[in-house]
Amino acid sequence: MIHDVIVIGGSYAGMAASLQLLRARRSVLVIDAGQRRNRTASHSHGFLGQDGVDPAVIARDARNQLEAYPTLTWVEGEAASVTGKRDAFVVETVGDQTYHTRRILFATGVTDQLPQIDGLAERWGRSVFHCPYCHGYELDQGRIGVIASGPMSMHQAELLTEWGAVTFFINSVLSLDPAAQQVLEQRGVMIENTAVLALTGEADVQLADGRTLSFAGLFVAPTVTPSTTLPTKLGCTIVEGPMGQMIAVDGAKETTVRGVYACGDVAQMPHSVSLAVGDGAMAGLQLHRSLVWPDMHA
Ligand SMILES: Cc1cc2nc3c(=O)[nH]c(=O)nc-3n(C[C@H](O)[C@H](O)[C@H](O)COP(=O)(O)OP(=O)(O)OC[C@H]3O[C@@H](n4cnc5c(N)ncnc54)[C@H](O)[C@@H]3O)c2cc1C
Repeated sequence: MIHDVIVIGGSYAGMAASLQLLRARRSVLVIDAGQRRNRTASHSHGFLGQDGVDPAVIARDARNQLEAYPTLTWVEGEAASVTGKRDAFVVETVGDQTYHTRRILFATGVTDQLPQIDGLAERWGRSVFHCPYCHGYELDQGRIGVIASGPMSMHQAELLTEWGAVTFFINSVLSLDPAAQQVLEQRGVMIENTAVLALTGEADVQLADGRTLSFAGLFVAPTVTPSTTLPTKLGCTIVEGPMGQMIAVDGAKETTVRGVYACGDVAQMPHSVSLAVGDGAMAGLQLHRSLVWPDMHA
């Protein structure tokens, strides 16, 4: 059998794309490894109609709705290789299953590269966050610690003053010139130059000079990379954005390889569930149009 579309990555973006295609009665095979980016968070915020809901519940309900369409096939697993060309792609999974398809959609998300600080990774999504729109409100205008990870951290420290009193831990990652210091001071940001040793408790920062400072929540700006190298191996162009790497796409969400599309965090910035769903819906309808009108270009 040859599927119309194989969607690699069955989270918010991949499912939103699949829904459009299934409603056009197209055959869709979703391959999903089950590693949603927000899997460590217990509440998702900012997605209209689902504000505060467990992100696993949002994903489960969406999948249940997709399963009602008879042209869906869902494979739990990991795509290991993609070869071929438009109208004749072959996808192999880690379990050595082989599938054929006319179009490919990468909705594979990104991986966060976090600073190597003791206690940070296990608090990611629980009391250490990156997106103020997702998790800032719940901190109730309390004390917020921003731990520098790169140039985006300066922007993050400035912005977060909208949500609480900010302490900015430079941690030898940045060197602030006088102009940058002045901008931060004008926003009321407290600059802390002592090295961060570890995170403890709920959101406590242990410093090299023996002090421990407590916060309502902590923020870092991770650098992101695509979760899989499959698009690169297939020849898709990868570009550098302000938060890290992403797959280059045109207005129809097609990559630089004909017949291969990408959506969600891996193909657009900034990142959120709403934006991933919107981007996925766009990819789904553009994929459908490319099947109806194969000569169409964005
Ligand atoms: C800690 C944290 C908290 C967040 N909280 C919020 C929030 O409150 N509100 C909000 O709007 N946004 C939040 N976000 C952002 C949100 O999680 C992302 O924007 C969203 O998950 C992107 O959806 P996506 O479908 O593009 O990718 P993802 O959700 O990352 O899904 C990608 C999927 O592709 C799969 N995959 C990857 N490679 C392969 C492969 N080779 N084969 C098969 N499957 C593969 C993965 O396993 C995964 O299931 C948060 C992010 C983080 C890190």
